[in-house]
Amino acid sequence: MRRFDFAPPDRIRSAQWSALRGILKDAYDLVPFYRERFEAAGLRPDDVRSPDELLRLAPVARDEVAAHFPDRITAAGIPRDDWRFAATSGTTSQRMIVFHDFAKREAVRAAAVRSFRFTGLRLGSRSVEIPPDVCNVQCGLKREAEPSLMDYLRSVGPKGLRDREAMATFRGLVERQVVFRRVTLSAFDARGTCQPGEVLDEYVRTLAAARPALFKALPAYLLALACRIRRTGQEPPPVGEIRPMGSALAPSARARIAEAFRCPVVEDYGTAELGPIACECAPGSGLHLFSDLFYIEHVRDGARVGPGDLGRILITDLTNRAMPLIRYDIGDAGVRLDGPCPCGRGTERFRVVGRTRDILVVPPGRLLPEHTVTDYLYAYTGVEWFQILQRSDRRFDLQVAGDGQDGLSLEALSRDVAAYLGGDVRVHVRRVETIVPESGGKYRFMKSLARNPL
Ligand SMILES: [Zn+2]
Repeated sequence: MRRFDFAPPDRIRSAQWSALRGILKDAYDLVPFYRERFEAAGLRPDDVRSPDELLRLAPVARDEVAAHFPDRITAAGIPRDDWRFAATSGTTSQRMIVFHDFAKREAVRAAAVRSFRFTGLRLGSRSVEIPPDVCNVQCGLKREAEPSLMDYLRSVGPKGLRDREAMATFRGLVERQVVFRRVTLSAFDARGTCQPGEVLDEYVRTLAAARPALFKALPAYLLALACRIRRTGQEPPPVGEIRPMGSALAPSARARIAEAFRCPVVEDYGTAELGPIACECAPGSGLHLFSDLFYIEHVRDGARVGPGDLGRILITDLTNRAMPLIRYDIGDAGVRLDGPCPCGRGTERFRVVGRTRDILVVPPGRLLPEHTVTDYLYAYTGVEWFQILQRSDRRFDLQVAGDGQDGLSLEALSRDVAAYLGGDVRVHVRRVETIVPESGGKYRFMKSLARNPL
């Protein structure tokens, strides 16, 4: 994988394209759902010779995957004994379940290591994670204790060394006990972004004691801790690198966190159904796609968008043959980045700027993704936390929360935000105690009831 990343761009593209054609062919041959997709488009896999022909195949939405799961969207007629379930987080109704075959699981595992090492982190370094609350409920805190490496090897005996499933389990144990050395802290409670100072200080103390090379947490948690550190003037905990989990950070949010913790903030990108997809090589470099594992498209109204233009992100998984995801609508909006990266990797780069369904559409059809709005509001004095909701074309609700609102005039804020959004809109501003998470444990600082514009 490392060698692949540093190969010349044209060699990367041709390897990626031939893997893509292999997946298209298998999906057509073995998966009823895709066979119908191809037929509806009047296409056969051999017809897809360039990215343009691929555009004719309709993107695959999450709810379509769920609706056709399992029989119609999994490969028929091949052995299933090495398939395993993988589920996305979220509440039961939001969760999506997919099958990963053996090759996919190995690719996910290797890609996790690749992602960890992408910025030079050393394997075996300690990391601390604060995942959203839902993990505590759904993954279960009462998981059985894992056997130690030696105990496991003893239990499978010499013939286990030749059994690839047993070795895969062993690699999983090595991963958790040796490679990542991950400590998981409990999520923020129902009080949301407005946690008492002593609770936040306790997190800071735990981090200071752990001295992690990597600290990962929801953006909301990172921001709350950053605000606390800044406000109290306390020494930030010694953290080597910070990465947000669950969603991408707006530049202003990233700057707030980097400043408070005095450490680099880097993004990686991935989902449970696809595994690690991309990683930044340096703060703000843009995400390098793992192009041996995925094919990415940026589209709007069914057409490809140019570099720098806002588009819907579609991902094709090049590895998982058990349940191919082709032109899968991952739910994020992003921009393609052009030009070579100083790090020397030849893989394509992109940036994620928010969820597609939460893009604000202001007359006459201007699109504002979450990061653009966040950057505007974070620059506004007195706004520490916000949640903005687009109710209709011209009606917006804005909630603000947090300390440091002295001198914040709600009337002025309403006027200024309306002007920012484009004049002829109404912005109803309200002060609230706190911003609380959604049912899945994640936070949504921007929501839209308007039609999804991409
Ligand atoms: Zn780079």
